[in-house]
Amino acid sequence: MQDVDLYQRVLGLVEPWSVQRVTLDVTQRRVDIQVEHTAGVKWACPQCGQELACYDHVAERTWRHLDTCQFQTHLHARIPRVKCPEHGVVQASVPWAEPHGRFTMLFERLVIDVLQATHTVSGACELMRISWDEAFGVMQRAVARGQSRKKAEPIAHLGVDEKAFRKGHSYVTVVCDIDRSAVEHVADDRKIESLGEYFQSLSAEQLEGIQAVAMDMWEPYIQATMRHVPRAGDKIVFDRFHIMKHVNEAVDKVRRQEHRQLKAGGDDRLKGSKHLWLYAAENLPQKHHSAFRELCDQNLRTGRAWAIKETLRRLWDYRSTTWARKFFRAWFGWARRSKLEPIKRAALTLQRHLDNIITYCRHPITNGVAEGLNSRIMTIKRKACGYRNRENFKTAIYFFCGGLDLYPQ
Ligand SMILES: [Zn+2]
Repeated sequence: MQDVDLYQRVLGLVEPWSVQRVTLDVTQRRVDIQVEHTAGVKWACPQCGQELACYDHVAERTWRHLDTCQFQTHLHARIPRVKCPEHGVVQASVPWAEPHGRFTMLFERLVIDVLQATHTVSGACELMRISWDEAFGVMQRAVARGQSRKKAEPIAHLGVDEKAFRKGHSYVTVVCDIDRSAVEHVADDRKIESLGEYFQSLSAEQLEGIQAVAMDMWEPYIQATMRHVPRAGDKIVFDRFHIMKHVNEAVDKVRRQEHRQLKAGGDDRLKGSKHLWLYAAENLPQKHHSAFRELCDQNLRTGRAWAIKETLRRLWDYRSTTWARKFFRAWFGWARRSKLEPIKRAALTLQRHLDNIITYCRHPITNGVAEGLNSRIMTIKRKACGYRNRENFKTAIYFFCGGLDLYPQ
């Protein structure tokens, strides 16, 4: 078969490498390409670049390459070794593959693209006709590559959130770069050390460069940030959505208590109304408007709790901390006089954390990005029956959500 020139061009091979032989096996639907180098050329030591004569060759190796018209295509070559006075006997590098890789770089690139497009390892296995371990290996190498290329640049806005890894008790802490919408770090658990280990991995300059950190009012995260980030007291921003969630939970408690009492007297007014009270007023679907208005007019305790909750949302409209504080003081007084226990308790929690709620005035960030990444992480988890352990799961998170430069070069 005289496709030597064609394959030479397809593979982009240049001196000293050239295609010697192409073997086509029609029944196996397979193409084998033998690649050789001209004799007498010098090779660079991969560590120091010194040009040296060929010392010997390693045994022939095979790389899977992009299919040729649906024929699996394999490249074969013997890699020369050099004897560097400084680094000893080492393998020269070849232009089509990374050291120790089993795929050519072009093939590996395509696997990366297919993984990114399908979001599943098994999907890529099927399309690329490779094994699960091979596909996952591509993923691992891509993440290692991306992480080693990543520059230690300051990240202005961080988001920290927890994610349940298994139902119930097992958590991971996810740190993300809000401006890049990318996962920076995934740590086991949700303890002080979980977040602390991330901060410890940063340079002094990076720590100094952190302008704000969005998080839930979760004590271990607060402590880790206070411990590692300079002037953290001005930089922690409790996430408004988490705060509203706490207050919504209080509203729901009031509703449950009231519903129980009403029901005991045969009054079913609050039945099925749970979600109506949890909407932000402007998001309440049109079809519920009249029913909801009617409920609001009935002077129910739940209605009062709802009004207190809705009013609180104005806190995030202020750009001045002084005015935000004034507003909160008025709201807090109202909540504390409300005679609604769950609301009174929620108000106390907020008061205790107020300083870092109104940091929002200066750093208007939320954990929305982290939440978005979290739902992507859940998709990965759902589709990934194969990530046998937490480390594999983390690799997948970095691969799909890390914003890394994954390709071999
Ligand atoms: Zn060397």
